[in-house]
Amino acid sequence: MKSLFINKYINILILALIVNCQQALLAALSSGNIVSFYNANDKIVVLTSQNFSSTVYQSKIAWLIEFYASWCGHCQSYANTYREIAIDTWTWKTIIRIAAINCYAGDNNALCRQHSVRGYPALRFIPPETILGNTSKAIEISATDANVVKKRLIKELDNIPKKNKLWPQFTPVNRITLEELYARIPSTVKILLVIAEKRNDFIGRHIMLDFSKYRDQLAIFRTTTDGKLWRKFNVSITDVPALFVILRNRTAQRINIERNSSNNIDNHDLFNNAIRSYIQQTKYIENFDDREFEEIILSKNALKNAEMQQKLVQKKNVTDEILDKNTIYRKVNMVDLELALSYMFREEVPQIKEIYGDAYDALVQWLTVLTKYFPGREPVMGYFKQLLLKVSEHSNGFSGDTFREIINMKTSNAYLPNDHAQYQHCAGSAPQYRGYPCALWLLFHTLTVSQYQIESNQIDVTEVPLAIKNYIKHFFGCRQCSTNFMKETANMTQLNSQNKREAIIYLWKIHNRVNKRLRNQITEDPKHPKLQFPSKKLCPTCQSMNKKNIYNEYIISKTINFLVEYYSKENIDVSLILDKPYNNETLLIRQERLISPIEYHAEIKENVGSHPKDF
Ligand SMILES: Cc1cc2nc3c(=O)[nH]c(=O)nc-3n(C[C@H](O)[C@H](O)[C@H](O)COP(=O)(O)OP(=O)(O)OC[C@H]3O[C@@H](n4cnc5c(N)ncnc54)[C@H](O)[C@@H]3O)c2cc1C
Repeated sequence: MKSLFINKYINILILALIVNCQQALLAALSSGNIVSFYNANDKIVVLTSQNFSSTVYQSKIAWLIEFYASWCGHCQSYANTYREIAIDTWTWKTIIRIAAINCYAGDNNALCRQHSVRGYPALRFIPPETILGNTSKAIEISATDANVVKKRLIKELDNIPKKNKLWPQFTPVNRITLEELYARIPSTVKILLVIAEKRNDFIGRHIMLDFSKYRDQLAIFRTTTDGKLWRKFNVSITDVPALFVILRNRTAQRINIERNSSNNIDNHDLFNNAIRSYIQQTKYIENFDDREFEEIILSKNALKNAEMQQKLVQKKNVTDEILDKNTIYRKVNMVDLELALSYMFREEVPQIKEIYGDAYDALVQWLTVLTKYFPGREPVMGYFKQLLLKVSEHSNGFSGDTFREIINMKTSNAYLPNDHAQYQHCAGSAPQYRGYPCALWLLFHTLTVSQYQIESNQIDVTEVPLAIKNYIKHFFGCRQCSTNFMKETANMTQLNSQNKREAIIYLWKIHNRVNKRLRNQITEDPKHPKLQFPSKKLCPTCQSMNKKNIYNEYIISKTINFLVEYYSKENIDVSLILDKPYNNETLLIRQERLISPIEYHAEIKENVGSHPKDF
């Protein structure tokens, strides 16, 4: 009867946790004005420019902080791993806490710069009692798999000099008798445990952290070599890790750890379970709360379930054909291009602390391409020309901070606006979707088309793609995207210089490969699926039909014509960037006009088709 009740209680708890997790995953992301990927349910402390210093500096505990940008797809993909780290280390919270800050929200970016964050996501370990603003103490940790990050945290915590008797004793106790060991522990300790393990094993330290909340009553040591203690336990190197309780009569008793090779429980979990059972049996530890440990398992399961459900929603059985029909196609909008340029120069480039050598050359190259080919309005073009001049004056390069000062120049006939409210073509159906990376792609395609249109006689086909590549390499904040893009563009030097439209095709193909790779991923906006571009609805003539009436291959010449028209200056909607203020009525009319006339193309005969062939 009792176990029935417990089962029911656990089921309700699991359900509540799944709902919580899903709400955390979705609610955090879908709030109108995105501030954080995370919320309190994630066991992650949400930092902002307001609470950062008071929380992290001169703290008694260590901090792991994720610096991310909510526009960055890889940060979104990494969020569940970070949640897993926070869950796994929840019982370490009197030693270390897990926190995160969105560098894209409010005025948080300055903090991210101070911590030398040059790409997202970035993890920093801040030791306890770090003095306010002493960012040199922050240790960089790679944003990888949860187990790897946990091991790294253990190493960093191990490196911190032992503060007092209650700080976990990570250094192995080897040349010591049981009597001497007893003498080391505070009088409040009621259980003394020793884990015998190999020197580089993590279990001992991991377990010490798991039970660190009870360290005034539960002392845990580790022993690692064939010293006095090891010999006393009479264990062989093939028989470790092993767990011993040291009794008051100074004898050691081995706690049997049941190993079950049929399930996936690792050594750490087995040791953790064994110690919890021992505590529950002996009842020596006051206020021991086993539910906290249960909650970790339940939270992890709930996280996995929520993730699976998210994937199912993402992969629901909708054909490209239906998606294509339901997708709104907006024109390229000058608001998006200017917003992207503003973020790029005001936030992304100055994020790089040192702009010297190749990074400086990449910036000059990028500005040169913008001054030559960006189809912008006069003051914006004037701004780029002046910016290029100023940047060229510092031929030895400069710091990110100096660049930040340079970009703030503004005259009546040369400025880069920063007051557009929101993306238009790149507006997502929720705040975490689209935005900056979407507008970057639009900018890149616009530049390839513009170069072709301006210089249709003689063309250096690598000029624009190379400038794009080098910008992405040195400055793009999504570091994993940058790495992927370097792989995608490894063959750039082989571009066919005889074909004037080669750069347009080249970028179009790469972008479609990226679309294909990211299809059905967590970062895909369900309202703007990553279909191959241009879709059948957008350009009915761009693809050929096979014998079964299925569209399957792009006709390059027609696709190029479409791209040239789509990204040409004449097709870019500039109606929302008129300098004069406009009233609500005109705003409505303008928003309607954002929908491209292309969308009104006569609907084509329905053909349930597959993706066009890879190219
Ligand atoms: C250089 C670069 C590399 C990236 N790498 C990654 C990565 O590795 N992982 C990751 O998660 N995210 C990556 N991103 C972000 C990702 O590609 C999308 O930009 C982001 O997910 C937003 O997608 P979206 O739906 O707004 O459409 P986007 O893919 O951003 O497309 C923007 C617009 O471009 C047009 N378009 C789409 N395809 C084409 C095409 N083939 N040719 C011409 N026009 C097209 C459409 O009008 C579309 O609305 C990268 C972004 C950039 C700029």
